[in-house]
Amino acid sequence: MISLKSNSEIEIMREAGFIVASAVMEAFDVMEPGITTKELDNITCSVIKKQGAKPAFLGLYGFPATACVSINNEIVHGIPSDDRIIKNGDIVTIDCGAIVDGLYSDHAVSKIAGEDINNNRTIIETTKGSLNQAIKEIKPGNRLGDVSNAVESYVRPKGFELVREYVGHGIGRQLHEPPQVPNIGSPSTGIELRPGLVLAIEPMLTAGGWETEKLDDDWTVVTKDGSMSCHFEHTVAVTDIGFDILTKI
Ligand code: MG
Ligand code: MG
Repeated sequence: MISLKSNSEIEIMREAGFIVASAVMEAFDVMEPGITTKELDNITCSVIKKQGAKPAFLGLYGFPATACVSINNEIVHGIPSDDRIIKNGDIVTIDCGAIVDGLYSDHAVSKIAGEDINNNRTIIETTKGSLNQAIKEIKPGNRLGDVSNAVESYVRPKGFELVREYVGHGIGRQLHEPPQVPNIGSPSTGIELRPGLVLAIEPMLTAGGWETEKLDDDWTVVTKDGSMSCHFEHTVAVTDIGFDILTKI
């Protein structure tokens, strides 16, 4: 069942969204070559708790940390570790969620650590741009396929692939609610967007093929061909006239 959120629920999700956006921002503020993924995770955890919220990912489906920190060919669900040291030129994705009064937020940002020695700026800008294009399609009367198609039609001409096995989702009293929000789709198809629907939109791009595989830790999802990947995510509400990005500062 797709659930629509009341205005007061959306205001609480905005608070959860502000908190997670500040957690991700503070982690990136100190991110530099030589730091470990666990140190970044610790920052997200303390920022979320300091503001009276709960980490949404910790313990969910058994995930052992506050943030997913994924590097280069790792697309999503990287487990933070004291042994994982970030190197100059890495693409680092921090994906994180917070809970306020039982309501969730979900947010991901990718950045280059240090200098762009591996020429990753284009995949990062394209991923971010595709999320912006998708958000512009969020308004009552549009359909889910319009959102998916906005991502796909922005990304394809730039020569990148889109991950198919992991998609965006509805969000509210659970992290993952229906509907699924694929990053590939046809315009004017799928469910109609209505005020109160809140979606986590999250394009995942690769510089090679779209196929993925899971590492032995049973969490980290990587590109099958080892190519670079990038991921951005916002939690966005459908309003009476358009969109409202909840995961921002
Ligand atoms: Mg996420
Ligand atoms: Mg998500």
